[in-house]
Amino acid sequence: MCDLHDCDHDRQARAQRASASPNEVNRRTALGLGGAALASLGLVQFAGSSAPKAFAAPGSLPAEDLDLMVIVCDGMRPDELNAEQTPTLWRWASQGTRYSNAKAHMIAETLPNHTAMVTGTFPDRNGVPSNSIWDHGAGDERTMDRSDDITYPTVLERIRNERGLTTASVVSKDYLYTILDGKASVHWTPGPLLPVTDHALDHFTIEALKVTIDDHSPRFTFVNLGDIDRFGHMDFSGTSWRLARNQALFNTDHKLWELEQFMRANGSWDRTAILVLADHSMDWSTPFDLVSAKELTDRDPALRGRFGIAQNGGADTFAYLGAPEGKDAAIARLREVVLAHPGVNKVYTGDELRLGERGGDLVATCNHGWRFSDPTPVSNPIPGNHGHEVTLPIPFFITGGHASVRRGQVIDRPVTTRDVAATAAHAFGLSWQDMDASPAAEAFSF
Ligand SMILES: [Zn+2]
Ligand SMILES: [Zn+2]
Repeated sequence: MCDLHDCDHDRQARAQRASASPNEVNRRTALGLGGAALASLGLVQFAGSSAPKAFAAPGSLPAEDLDLMVIVCDGMRPDELNAEQTPTLWRWASQGTRYSNAKAHMIAETLPNHTAMVTGTFPDRNGVPSNSIWDHGAGDERTMDRSDDITYPTVLERIRNERGLTTASVVSKDYLYTILDGKASVHWTPGPLLPVTDHALDHFTIEALKVTIDDHSPRFTFVNLGDIDRFGHMDFSGTSWRLARNQALFNTDHKLWELEQFMRANGSWDRTAILVLADHSMDWSTPFDLVSAKELTDRDPALRGRFGIAQNGGADTFAYLGAPEGKDAAIARLREVVLAHPGVNKVYTGDELRLGERGGDLVATCNHGWRFSDPTPVSNPIPGNHGHEVTLPIPFFITGGHASVRRGQVIDRPVTTRDVAATAAHAFGLSWQDMDASPAAEAFSF
C-alpha cells in the first residue's frame, strides 16, 4: 500500500487516540501562545508512567550537557543535499560530520526505517518490515501503525527509563504518531492534518518543536518532517522538473533556518547535537510503468487465491495462504511469474532481508522508474514511490552547536538508519551492543 492511501487506518487510529489511556495527562500549557495557536499545534501529551528497565545499568554520561535531536527529512534524496536546493542543510552538513555512504534498510518505507532508527534492529527483531503487511489474523492488508507493533525497546523509552531524562517525539505523520504512541516522555499530536496525506505541514511541526523545546527542554528529541516526502509523492513533474518537490525542499530548509535562529536565541543551539537524515529517498515513474502483481497471480491457475499481497510502492510482499504441502511449489511459480514481468528488479525471501514473519514469504522490488499497483492497476496512481533498491541511499550528517561535534569531516564508511539508535545510546552512555547497529562515533569528540 502507498503511504498516501492509509485513510481508513488513520481514521481508526484517530478514534483510538480520542480515548487515550488514563496515565497520559494532556498538557495544555500555552507557553505564551494564544488559544488559536495552541489549537493549531495540537496537544502535547506527557506520559507519566515508567516501563521496567530492560537493559544493564547505564555507564557515565559522555557529555553531561548534551541534548541530542534527530531530524528526519522524510524521503529526501542524498543528491538534494546541496547549496542550491537546501542551503541551510548544506551549511549544517559542512559544519559537522557528513556520512557519504548512508542507506535505509529494506523495505525502503517510512515505518520500517523510523522503527530502525529508534530500535537499532532489523525487522525480524523489531516487528516492522514494511508500511503495509498481510495480516494473516485479519485476512487482509494493514498498516503497521499500532504502538505494540514495535517489538524491541526504543531509545525514546530507554533514555527516559534508564537515564531518567526527558525524551520527546515530534512527528508530522499520523501513523508515525500512533506507532510511537507512549514511547517518549513528551509526545506531540500532529495537526492540523492535511486531507489525503494525513500529515501536518512542516510549518506546524517546526512550531510544535519550538514549543516542546521551550516547555520541556527534552534531552533527546525525535522529529519527522513529512513535506518533502508527501509533496514528492504527488509531483507529476517528478520525472522532469520536480516543481512541487523542489518547492517543498526549499520551504523545509527555510523552516530549519528559522529553527536554528530560535535555538540560537534561547541558548539551546550550543547544547545540542543534531543528527539529520532521511528514512528513504524517492523515485518517480510514468503513468504506465507499473506492475500489478495481483493481476499476474489471478491469471495463473497455480497462483490464484494463494497469496495475500501487501503493496509498498516500490515493493510488494507476498504471504502464502494455501495448504502447507503446496507452499514450495507455489512460491517457486510465483518467483518465476513475477520475475518475467517488465519492470521487476529482484525477488527476495523474507529471510534474505531479515523481515521476520510479518514480511511475508516473498518480496518483489521494481526497477528505477517503475512502481507496484495492487490490488488493481489503478490502486496506486501516484508518480513518486519508494521501497525499492534505488530509494535506499539517504543523506546522513551530525551537526549543531554542541562542542563535542566534530567539524568539517566526511566519513565514507557505510551507515544505516539503524545506526541512529546506536548513536543515541552511545551519546547517553547506554548499551547498544545488542542492536544490529553501531554508533556514528566519528562525529563526536567523546
Ligand atoms: Zn518516509
Ligand atoms: Zn513516502
